Amino acid sequence: MGSNYNNYNNDPNRQRPRKRVSKQTLRRRQLGALCVIAFLVLLLVILVAKACSKDSDKGGDTTPTDATTTSTTTTVQQTEALTTVTTTTTKAAGANDSGFKLDKYSIYIDVGGMGIAYVQQYPEGSSEEDEVWSTSDAKIATVDAYGHVTGVSGGECYVTLSSRKDPSKEVMIKVTVTGPANTANSADGDKDTDNKGNNKTNDNEPQQLAEAPAPSKIQGEGYHYEGDVLIVNKTYSIPASYNPGALDPTCNEWFNKLVQGASRDGINIFLSSGFRSYGYQEGLYNTYAANDGVAKADTYSARPGHSEHQTGLAIDVNEVSDLFIGTPEAQWIEDHCWEYGFILRYPKGKQDITGYKYEPWHIRYVGYDMSKKIHDRGGITLEEYFGLTSQYQS
Ligand SMILES: [Zn+2]
Repeated sequence: MGSNYNNYNNDPNRQRPRKRVSKQTLRRRQLGALCVIAFLVLLLVILVAKACSKDSDKGGDTTPTDATTTSTTTTVQQTEALTTVTTTTTKAAGANDSGFKLDKYSIYIDVGGMGIAYVQQYPEGSSEEDEVWSTSDAKIATVDAYGHVTGVSGGECYVTLSSRKDPSKEVMIKVTVTGPANTANSADGDKDTDNKGNNKTNDNEPQQLAEAPAPSKIQGEGYHYEGDVLIVNKTYSIPASYNPGALDPTCNEWFNKLVQGASRDGINIFLSSGFRSYGYQEGLYNTYAANDGVAKADTYSARPGHSEHQTGLAIDVNEVSDLFIGTPEAQWIEDHCWEYGFILRYPKGKQDITGYKYEPWHIRYVGYDMSKKIHDRGGITLEEYFGLTSQYQS
């Protein structure tokens, strides 16, 4: 092309070629101008679309030529808005497309009370074993590994059920706890404004904690007490009818203090299993016994009526399996739970005495008097302390 062009310029008869050149140039210019205009229009469209997306819901007031582009943008934007709304709704508890279906999406309980939302349907490929429960605020309500929700202090929070197999599948339940809000609990680690009103330092924490009282005694027949301490092991059971429905309130209160104390040390402790009814334990034990045989099941699961969890005074924390052994959390529990009135109920190497293998996750509330005695004697067991056996009669 370039050489042709030069030829034209060298042509003596420049009239015609000149005209042709100018026509071409004109066409080019026109094309260029068109391009610029098109570009400007496109720019305008983009700007308008952007302006629209910043506003809530207006669009379509642009030139007809660009209607397609604009409406597409608006649709995308509206879809985004819809998605946001859906996500927000899901967050606000209720049924969604997670695949979970529950019998209810809100729970109303009192402080110390227990509630449960039953799962009626699981996401495809998931089952009961894949349930993962968590709470948005353990100061208001805790939830154990089985979905038992326990009211801690007045307020609202959310309990989430998700699938271990696919954590993106989750459903939320709104929990409303009626009762006094625990203001002491809401204070952060550095602000220890407790009821005593003392300007205490973190150093003398255990002295303040020395107040963890013994839980109140259960009245009636069929309970074995040593002093203030209720004994439940393989030798001593409690009646099937004993069903407080939740953790003992004192135990619950001091567990929350323990959680906060751990948090101050940068350790995350949470409740995995608290109160378990006779019926629930029966189902649990029977399943284990069917799978592993009675002898094996007896080493890690209590027969119904023989579980400390039925007393509302025992808590399994964090990972309820051997994976918990040797973790910083397990170490913290072993070192500090006594400060909050708890003891490690099934210490290492005491299987012949307690009847259970090492369970660093299972703690038992006894109150500070007793927990300190146990601690001072090197973390011995209740069986050793009181000279008791732990053996099934049959
Ligand atoms: Zn346990």
